[in-house]
Amino acid sequence: MKKLTYKFSNSSVDYYLAGSISHLKEIVDQKNSIIITDENISNAHGKRFKNWKTIVLKPGEEYKVQETANAVIEQLIAMEADRKTTLVGLGGGVITDMTGYVASVYMRGIKFGFLPTTLLAMVDASIGGKNGIDLGVYKNIVGIIRQPSFILHDLIFLNTLPQNEWENGFAEIIKHACIKDAAMFRELESGSLRKYHTGKKAVGELIRRNAILKTKLVQRDEFEKGDRKLLNFGHTLGHALENQYDLSHGQAISIGMTYAANMSQQLNGFKDAKKVVNVLEKYGLPTCLKFDKQKVFDVLKMDKKRERAEMNYILLEKIGKGIVKPIPMKELESILNGL
Ligand code: ADP
Ligand code: ZN
Repeated sequence: MKKLTYKFSNSSVDYYLAGSISHLKEIVDQKNSIIITDENISNAHGKRFKNWKTIVLKPGEEYKVQETANAVIEQLIAMEADRKTTLVGLGGGVITDMTGYVASVYMRGIKFGFLPTTLLAMVDASIGGKNGIDLGVYKNIVGIIRQPSFILHDLIFLNTLPQNEWENGFAEIIKHACIKDAAMFRELESGSLRKYHTGKKAVGELIRRNAILKTKLVQRDEFEKGDRKLLNFGHTLGHALENQYDLSHGQAISIGMTYAANMSQQLNGFKDAKKVVNVLEKYGLPTCLKFDKQKVFDVLKMDKKRERAEMNYILLEKIGKGIVKPIPMKELESILNGL
């Protein structure tokens, strides 16, 4: 199995991007490992990991909360997990965030690795070491940056991925293209969900490219002082919308990216907002929503990208080049109201 190793400030991560879950036992010691997954994955794919110790959680973002972390920790204690134990998060972003978080606090930190099963987790959530949970409407408000020991991809899991989960993944892929990779943007413009859906080779290559793009961005700026902030394109407004309206993460950031593209035209001389909107729509993502601007702004104010009276907003200079622009909160409020 091909391995790539990426170094971060105080750890390194082994990537097995074209792997198989059957190789997991070569990466970790099976008797000292516990898989954390959710009911859907366990129902659809349980036979692939039937010989492993497993903790199965209820699926869904609403369970990415401290109570679930406590329940997992209680099970770890019951299973006599110790400092030699490795937790393996096998699932989508909810599972990888929760696994990394629990592993980072249980006994002040044990090893963990990921086997992402959604497109979104493969290209985004499992990469970069951000682990955490939500509190009320505030997404990822509690957490820690700590890198997994390994990331293993097995594309077989994508066979059962629901349609809306493909769209979620593509929202992050389009984000990567917008902020960093104009060539990939053009490829997405000429491709389609169908092409990637049916073409194992095409999707494998797209996943690899996106996983590495994000990894390199994080490597340069693990603790988000500069360039890593670009990954928040579409997310400031997106997060504020996500938990208040009935939107998936991909749908919410799609609307966030649409607004950010239009703001980029207004503030930054960006010319291609229409192209961004077209690509989002091509991959089944929404680009407009009527929402209560005041209510959403009240949540948006609490975003982690705010530094006192300014918000670090991610805009585009051109396709493939994102920038961080500090915008005073007052101005941001009036711009949003005007769009
Ligand atoms: P993400 O944050 O990566 O979008 P979640 O962890 O919220 O993903 O998972 C989204 C939903 O998809 C959950 O209901 C989860 O159980 C389900 N799921 C995850 N991976 C798969 C898969 N490979 N096949 C079928 N369902 C899956
Ligand atoms: Zn995201």
